[in-house]
Amino acid sequence: MQLVFLGAPGVGKGTQADKVSAQDGVVKISTGDLLREAVRNRTTLGLEAKSYMDQGKLVPDSVVIGLVRDKLSDPGYAKGFILDGFPRTVPQAEALAAVLDERRIHLDRVINFQVSRAEIVKRLGGRRSCPQCQATYHVEFAPSKNGLTCDRCGEGLVQRSDDQREAIETRLKVYEEQTAPLISYYETRNMLSHLDSAGSVDAVYQNLTKVLAPYRSA
Ligand code: AMP
Repeated sequence: MQLVFLGAPGVGKGTQADKVSAQDGVVKISTGDLLREAVRNRTTLGLEAKSYMDQGKLVPDSVVIGLVRDKLSDPGYAKGFILDGFPRTVPQAEALAAVLDERRIHLDRVINFQVSRAEIVKRLGGRRSCPQCQATYHVEFAPSKNGLTCDRCGEGLVQRSDDQREAIETRLKVYEEQTAPLISYYETRNMLSHLDSAGSVDAVYQNLTKVLAPYRSA
């Protein structure tokens, strides 16, 4: 199964991609995770990406396209992949189509996750992350046991710099201007399914399961 998960930041794409990945054995490729890893390891790419990410802006297409191109050349994709947070611009979508074509890989479906703006601001603003093991929590919906440290590894939880108010506003504006045009891009190619992702993680997964059924059995 080869999928793209599309949607604004905070719609729950990553959480659902983790669930599908655990269930089906498909690999999740999150450009956000790959970039954060590069920042943590202080690679040249990470140093270049950091200032864009901190402000909630998009990292240049050439950088992100290179990352995904490398990942897709990995032979560990026998059971497929979920691209989470890529493509985010029309040039990225065009580059992806070219790479998949080159490798003779078929893209099954693009899933467009939909949540209201107010809910997104609430989800992102309350998100807390573990800088050690990358587990994520939410102060209201999914707090850690003591609300301060990670249940898994005991590290103190932090708020990602791009989950702070100003950066959230920028990320939503960037989404509207640069990523939302991908909805019609994939719609005109008959590749898009819409998914209401306003409910709980389990409720959204139930809906997603229905959308993915034809591709799971393929
Ligand atoms: P995410 O975890 O998907 O919300 O991504 C966090 C940040 O990484 C974004 O705000 C961007 O700065 C950067 N990023 C992730 N994916 C992309 C992409 N496909 N194109 C450009 N920048 C990206």
